[in-house]
Amino acid sequence: MRINVVTIFPEYFASPLAASLVGRAQVDGLLDIVLHDLRQHGKGTHRQVDDAPFGGGAGMVMMIEPLADALDPLESSHRVLLAPAGKPLEQGTLDRWAALDELTLVCGRYEGIDERVAEHLIDEEVSIGDYVLLGGEVAALAIIEGVTRLLPGVVGNPESVMSESFRDGLLEEPHYTRPAEFRGWVVPEVLLSGDHGKVDEWRAEQREKRTRERRPDLIED
Ligand code: SAH
Repeated sequence: MRINVVTIFPEYFASPLAASLVGRAQVDGLLDIVLHDLRQHGKGTHRQVDDAPFGGGAGMVMMIEPLADALDPLESSHRVLLAPAGKPLEQGTLDRWAALDELTLVCGRYEGIDERVAEHLIDEEVSIGDYVLLGGEVAALAIIEGVTRLLPGVVGNPESVMSESFRDGLLEEPHYTRPAEFRGWVVPEVLLSGDHGKVDEWRAEQREKRTRERRPDLIED
């Protein structure tokens, strides 16, 4: 799979993309990440990419021309704009994207992007939550991680990807490891029983209970 990232801060990505399974996936040829420096399409000697908003007001707006120049060659990919006003990102969104050959993530900065970009040059707008970041780069990284772990061959045990939170509309059960007791805090006894049937039953109960307590919105009654 190929993921393009359009950004004015390509250097922002160096360390996170080199680390861990995302780094490994690239070395193994499962994933190709291409950073597109929007500045290279900037206007004039200062390579300007932003301008004052029509109608006045605070902040600067990213201009359509540099973005069009960057996005036109990527027209055949699925182009996603990161925006607080976009559709909330969900596991299902990542599942859908992980099946694509090519995905393009467009990172905004400043006040945001000339709306005509979203109207004409983008396939989908997504938000990673109801809060405002400085730019789309962290959102792009979140998506890259979420998509990468779904690519065949990236996570050693494919079952672990399929049994995670949000898969069946539930949160995952809690996990414990050694020691069985720490400062008097003990792990649930059933997990030490060796009875796999009982353990499975307990886990299913926990998924249900946690979801009801913490995220009742996930359960459609
Ligand atoms: N003025 C805008 C916020 C701009 S923040 C508003 O009020 O909606 C600058 C850039 O950061 C955005 O263009 C977007 O690309 C990115 N960004 C900020 N918060 C985000 C979020 N929750 N999800 C996705 N992208 C976000």
